[in-house]
Amino acid sequence: MENPVIYHNMHNRYGESLTWRSLSTSSRYSELWEKYMTSQRSLDHLYHKLFVEYMRKFKLNPPRWESRSLTNPHRRDFFGAYYPVAFHGHASDAMVPTTIASLLLHIAAYPSSLFPDSDGSAPPVDILPLLDWNSSHRQSPRLAILSRSFGAGYGPLASICPFEESKSVACGSPPLVIDLQQTAEDLDSTLTRFKNDGGIALIVQIIESQWPWTVIESKTLQTLSNICSRLKLPVVVDETLTALRCGAPFAHQRPEYLEVINPDFVIFGKGLKANGIGVNFDGETLRALSIYQEGDRYRCAFRWHDKHTRAISVPTLIEALFTLDMARDEDWPLRSIEIGRQIRSAICAQERGERGITQNPEPGSIAGLDALLYVRKNSIKGAIVQGIPEGDYIRLLPVLEDAMKCPAFISNCVMGRKSLARRRVTSKMLKRMHRKPLWCYVCGDATEEVLGDDVAWCEDCCIATCGYPECEKGFTDHQCLAIIGYL
Ligand SMILES: [Zn+2]
Ligand SMILES: [Zn+2]
Repeated sequence: MENPVIYHNMHNRYGESLTWRSLSTSSRYSELWEKYMTSQRSLDHLYHKLFVEYMRKFKLNPPRWESRSLTNPHRRDFFGAYYPVAFHGHASDAMVPTTIASLLLHIAAYPSSLFPDSDGSAPPVDILPLLDWNSSHRQSPRLAILSRSFGAGYGPLASICPFEESKSVACGSPPLVIDLQQTAEDLDSTLTRFKNDGGIALIVQIIESQWPWTVIESKTLQTLSNICSRLKLPVVVDETLTALRCGAPFAHQRPEYLEVINPDFVIFGKGLKANGIGVNFDGETLRALSIYQEGDRYRCAFRWHDKHTRAISVPTLIEALFTLDMARDEDWPLRSIEIGRQIRSAICAQERGERGITQNPEPGSIAGLDALLYVRKNSIKGAIVQGIPEGDYIRLLPVLEDAMKCPAFISNCVMGRKSLARRRVTSKMLKRMHRKPLWCYVCGDATEEVLGDDVAWCEDCCIATCGYPECEKGFTDHQCLAIIGYL
């Protein structure tokens, strides 16, 4: 039964939480966790068993998705043909040009290892021509990325990150930034020069990470895909935030993109618990490397994993499998469409009520795609939800729980005046546990409670501040639901 608490947290650990349920709600995963905690001797065996299961589940057809695919022949798979090959601590670790270059070299070299010499050693092979590379690609690999992308938290791609704290630690060769306002001819010559000059891949986001958060047009994606295919330039889709949230397992698998793009890699992470790179051996560029058999694809992946002592930790593996199972069984991609619709509708209703108007707010006050929303701060200040501020907007990442599809649940338990009672109950519970809200209502960072300091918070709205002076004012000025009143 649902707890009578407030669910106004659409920050969700920067999108790491796709559900509010824990492993304990599943008998299978409770048992696995227990086994992990108590059975050190069988840990290696458990690890390999779970790892293979994860690899297979990542790409294999789930029953429910399969049945829906009868009406849509394109939706045959969950995450499609992607093999999760490289695992990292954070998605930013996966977006380092040398990492992607090494992975490309590994995949290109793999077929030659299938035909060893009589002494068992693999024959030497000149890999670079297979990728249309010269020595500059190996020595100084560079990435290209679309303008207004997030980039990365550190490393070369951090140079285009909209956040100063990431930009300030950027290092290495900055990526080539692709402006999509160019003509197709200009894009072609830009990417051709890039490829000749050490360019190894193009990173694409389906939704921009900076204002105005434009969703890429399928025609544009097709143009990019055609150019990259001709240049043997792998396309990498960054699905770190968009996986499961945007109406398809990966956002680029939405019906409007299926016919126009066949990427070589995806970057995944955050809500999927494990972070890394998924490889599509049938991708537009990778398929030329001729790794056709499923057994060979798995072997190629496992040989990459063998470069690490353990590619992924057991607790992360258990969480990642739990998430995959729920996403598949409950069809989270489909659910994200309805949740996005209901939250948009609730925000519009909230703003209409606040401003005493009958028409919906102006276009552009809510951007994003399905359950990944960017809302103008002014349009949502009376709702008192916890999101991640981005300039004049706030990013909302709702959990993909069934209840979030219900308008009554949203108005009573998530946002606006009717949620006041639940907020007060939640605050009392937190106080009993000597806890406070975890995120700063103003800046979205962790509250200072994490560091052991005292934190100001509103027990009526159940929101807190981190304690930095610049956040204090925003917090003091919040449109307190206790003052506005209870409808
Ligand atoms: Zn703050
Ligand atoms: Zn308040």
